[in-house]
Amino acid sequence: MSQELNLILLGPPGAGKGTQAARLVQDFRLPWASTGDMLRAAVTEGSDLGLKAKGFMDSGALVPDDLIVDLIVERVAQEDCEDGFLLDGYPRTIPQADALAEALEGLDRKVTAALLVELDDEEVIRRLSGRRVCVTSGHGYHLDFDPPKHEGVCDQDGSRLVQRDDDKAEVIENRLEVYHAQTEPLVEYFESRGLLRRFDGSRSQTEVHDHIRAALATLRLEESA
Ligand code: ADP
Ligand code: ADP
Repeated sequence: MSQELNLILLGPPGAGKGTQAARLVQDFRLPWASTGDMLRAAVTEGSDLGLKAKGFMDSGALVPDDLIVDLIVERVAQEDCEDGFLLDGYPRTIPQADALAEALEGLDRKVTAALLVELDDEEVIRRLSGRRVCVTSGHGYHLDFDPPKHEGVCDQDGSRLVQRDDDKAEVIENRLEVYHAQTEPLVEYFESRGLLRRFDGSRSQTEVHDHIRAALATLRLEESA
């Protein structure tokens, strides 16, 4: 139990959660679940979930809790999550956080830490407007901050890079409002439980990564002491 890393990445859209998740899963060999990626895959497949979720996602609203909670509750109970997991984009509301806590409690486990990547609104807008993603792998780039070697092409597999529909200017503003109203209360939620760790998302990708890695190493030492 003490060595488990049951981690949550929290923060506004565009803060760098996905970018950091990709690095952390390699460091700590954790299974990674991104609810945004799961939902986008469902939309592409045209599954029942995808059909229900699409309208909310296109407008920058959250998908209703009852569509998303079971996905995650089932995911964390799977065998590969026994020694820990990294959730990216979940929870986004207090009821989602409560549902996760309850599911983990049933497994005699709990969240180890919520890693908050902080970024102000102005920078969020810059990050989201320049974000481009690989159509095949979802790997992320930024036109100014992390450009691919060849314009419009993924460095890793040569696929096309596209802009997400919800990264267009008219949707970004709504996503920010939704973040402040529905997700930001989770900062206090995790802080009051002694689980919050804050990171300055305006630093470089490598600096943010180093800071998170150092915090997790300390946390593991404390837990095993
Ligand atoms: P999130 O998952 O929080 O929405 P992403 O990881 O997709 O955020 O990052 C948003 C955009 O910002 C991407 O285009 C990414 O390349 C870029 N990015 C991520 N981290 C940094 C950073 N520390 N500095 C500059 N740009 C970054
Ligand atoms: P970002 O990290 O850039 O905010 P995501 O890829 O995590 O974006 O999420 C994209 C969209 O998917 C959200 O705007 C929302 O509509 C939906 N979504 C993702 N995760 C959740 C969640 N836990 N609860 C409700 N909606 C979600």
